[in-house]
Amino acid sequence: MTGHYILTEADVRGNGRFDDAIGLCNSPVDVHEPGGSRAIMDHVGIGYGIPWRTLVPLDVDNILVAGRCISVDAIAFGSTRNVPARTMTGEATAIAAAMIRRPSGLSGD
Ligand SMILES: Cc1cc2nc3c(=O)[nH]c(=O)nc-3n(C[C@H](O)[C@H](O)[C@H](O)COP(=O)(O)OP(=O)(O)OC[C@H]3O[C@@H](n4cnc5c(N)ncnc54)[C@H](O)[C@@H]3O)c2cc1C
Repeated sequence: MTGHYILTEADVRGNGRFDDAIGLCNSPVDVHEPGGSRAIMDHVGIGYGIPWRTLVPLDVDNILVAGRCISVDAIAFGSTRNVPARTMTGEATAIAAAMIRRPSGLSGD
């Protein structure tokens, strides 16, 4: 999915920070080449922010995206595809959906 921001390898390796980050992730860049012999397992230090904009599709209204489908490039995906980022994006989209349904926010029914 292409979102309002595409998280890049430079963001992941460079400990990118974003005003709209939903959380920080420091899963290694873990890439397996299908059918090949190349593998990458690079640690990313203190980690990087995952911008809210990577969860919001550019061209489709009324939908949010979580998990492996968020807006990232191929190498960034080697990190964001793992469980910590999946958990964060699932929680962020669920909370956002609940807030959108309730104009007063999360309080109330
Ligand atoms: C063999 C293997 C080992 C791994 N090891 C690790 C590890 O050690 N550490 C780590 O961090 N990550 C690991 N990963 C990666 C990580 O587990 C996955 O990338 C991550 O779970 C993906 O999360 P997701 O939410 O995007 O998708 P999924 O976890 O695949 O969740 C998608 C869900 O949607 C459901 N679904 C699909 N279609 C529909 C539909 N039409 N209607 C309703 N529901 C639907 C599916 O049943 C599934 O439950 C591993 C992955 C694999 C395959």
